[in-house]
Amino acid sequence: MKNNYLKLSLICMSVIMVSCKENKETTDKKEGESATVTNVEKRLENRVLTKEDQDKLTPDGVLADFKAGNERFRNNNNTVRDYKEQIRKSAVGQFPKAFVLGCVDSRAPIEDIFDQGIGDVFVGRVAGNFADENMLGSMEFACKVAGAKLIMVMAHQHCGAIKATIDNVDLGNITSLVDNIKPAIGLSASFLGEKNSKNEEYVKIVAENNVRNTIKNIRENSPILKEMEDKGEIKIVGAFYTLTKGELIFVE
Ligand SMILES: [Zn+2]
Repeated sequence: MKNNYLKLSLICMSVIMVSCKENKETTDKKEGESATVTNVEKRLENRVLTKEDQDKLTPDGVLADFKAGNERFRNNNNTVRDYKEQIRKSAVGQFPKAFVLGCVDSRAPIEDIFDQGIGDVFVGRVAGNFADENMLGSMEFACKVAGAKLIMVMAHQHCGAIKATIDNVDLGNITSLVDNIKPAIGLSASFLGEKNSKNEEYVKIVAENNVRNTIKNIRENSPILKEMEDKGEIKIVGAFYTLTKGELIFVE
């Protein structure tokens, strides 16, 4: 009996000691966390674009801003944002800088790549980043109605949609999807190497020609955007994003 009592006491003491240790660790951690938060708060971006901000933007200025944002992204130095504040401030209206048309690829997240926050950028994403009439309507809304100054069509390295187009994939709705990209195959006819989806160089050429073809479609099928571009109100640019380095190669 006495022995059991001793055992119980020892167990209780152990529990108390472990509990004290845990409390100490929690306190230490909290102190550490609050120190980190203080550091972060100094860099927090809590502003969102206003109409006045947007009115001051130029297409070239927005492009320079995107290039600088991509450089921060590649240097692991993206802006730390106070999303709670940005949500609150942006809820009343949006005045974005640009429209980016990208692929759905999970490795090419548009806002991150350009270090942009809530309210900064319209994003259209479809496998193979082509512009059908719905995408054109979205771009027209972004630029003509909501004031965006730049349209960027962005392809990316190792694109599955481009490979599927090269391979002439016939599967469900993918069949009609790749039809939108097929003109880029014709535009790549002069490529001298092996024309298959395993040849990275060829896949890149087709992806770049798909960007050129998409930009041509925008100009031909959207008189609104063409006129805005001709007047210098917007700029339309093409880019190829590398998955290996996170950098942009501009497509002329
Ligand atoms: Zn893709």
